[in-house]
Amino acid sequence: MIPVVIIGGGASGLMLASLLPPKSAIVIESNPKVGAKLLVSGGGRCNVTNEIVSSDNYLGDKDFISNVLRHFDQNALLSWCEVRGLSLISQKNHQYFCPNSAKEIVFILTKESNKQTVLLNEKVLNINHGQDGFLVQTNKQKIKAKFVVVASGGLSYPILGASDIGYKLAQNANHSISKLSPALVGFTLQKEQFFMKELSGSSVNNIEIKVGTKICKGDLLFTHKGISGPSVLDASLYWEKGSISIDFLPNFRWKSISGSKKNISTLLPLPKRVTKSLLEHLDIPDKPFSALSKADQDKLNILNNYSLAPAGTFGYSKAEVTRGGVITNEIDPYTMMSNKVDNLYFAGEVLDVTGELGGYNLQWAFSSAFVCAKALKPKIK
Ligand SMILES: Cc1cc2nc3c(=O)[nH]c(=O)nc-3n(C[C@H](O)[C@H](O)[C@H](O)COP(=O)(O)OP(=O)(O)OC[C@H]3O[C@@H](n4cnc5c(N)ncnc54)[C@H](O)[C@@H]3O)c2cc1C
Repeated sequence: MIPVVIIGGGASGLMLASLLPPKSAIVIESNPKVGAKLLVSGGGRCNVTNEIVSSDNYLGDKDFISNVLRHFDQNALLSWCEVRGLSLISQKNHQYFCPNSAKEIVFILTKESNKQTVLLNEKVLNINHGQDGFLVQTNKQKIKAKFVVVASGGLSYPILGASDIGYKLAQNANHSISKLSPALVGFTLQKEQFFMKELSGSSVNNIEIKVGTKICKGDLLFTHKGISGPSVLDASLYWEKGSISIDFLPNFRWKSISGSKKNISTLLPLPKRVTKSLLEHLDIPDKPFSALSKADQDKLNILNNYSLAPAGTFGYSKAEVTRGGVITNEIDPYTMMSNKVDNLYFAGEVLDVTGELGGYNLQWAFSSAFVCAKALKPKIK
């Protein structure tokens, strides 16, 4: 009997495999190669972590999250990479990326996890737990294991191998799953905002989106499907239903243009095409500020608080992550073991922990894998 079966050869599964003693685990991956999602992450350069990481960057149980993160924080992850010859580079918004390509971190994780058996093109279908361990049923064989770690990720990007197996296995083990939905994803629009689709390809920088009590800052991109870009992706994490409010001009002082003879579309620090379209939508003539009626001058304030109710999101095919997952009060934060079934563990995105944009989801995948490895190591003889 193999000590550990790891379901999923993604971020958390590979990190776990690399931390366990050689030949103590089998990684089962349904894709023809490991780390498929890592390779496309961060626009192909993989935003591995962030300079500033705390439970505030996540949706989920704050105590549980803090407990896991502190065992393997961003500095420990940076050192882990550094020791293996990968110096991550800090870029905008404190994000750490691979210097050239996501291949660099996948290369390290693949090399490190090769001390284990890695089965590719093999899909886990079910697990049965009995008194003397687990029987893992794949589409090719049955494998006996003493410990099973579910590291099969969420539902986003099914084209890269995402499946619901983790949630199914958790439910079979009597775990509860919180509501699942696509997150870090663009918004589709209601008819009232269809004019934005005409702006496809344009972007506005440094806007702010208010969603509930959260303010999500960053760029906004207009696309043929709706709106996207970093600020929108973060807003989608906190959006349930109803309206969001966009401040297109968070740092702009209207007084600065009150005396100008130039048209508003020339003066506002937004792409001219975008300003003209917004003015048309709000039925405000493109004139010098002083030539506008008082009512139109007041109406311009809407650009600081533009209310929009998204029709929905672009869905799992475009979402970076799945919000929700295996409820964490049924998982031990010191070991990642299930409180329902002994020797069954969970790591990564399958859990009800979802991070903001900025490297937080990979940090979570790696930290939770580390905690799991720390707990398993003394149990493996
Ligand atoms: C386009 C994109 C860009 C992203 N960019 C970033 C980024 O820059 N920074 C960041 O922090 N996060 C990013 N994320 C999110 C991040 O990649 C995930 O949160 C992270 O990979 C989750 O790790 P995981 O190990 O839980 O799951 P995954 O990495 O998804 O790994 C799960 C693995 O399990 C396999 N699997 C599924 N079902 C089965 C089965 N039945 N049998 C066998 N194997 C199975 C899958 O094929 C997959 O390889 C991005 C996501 C996407 C989609």
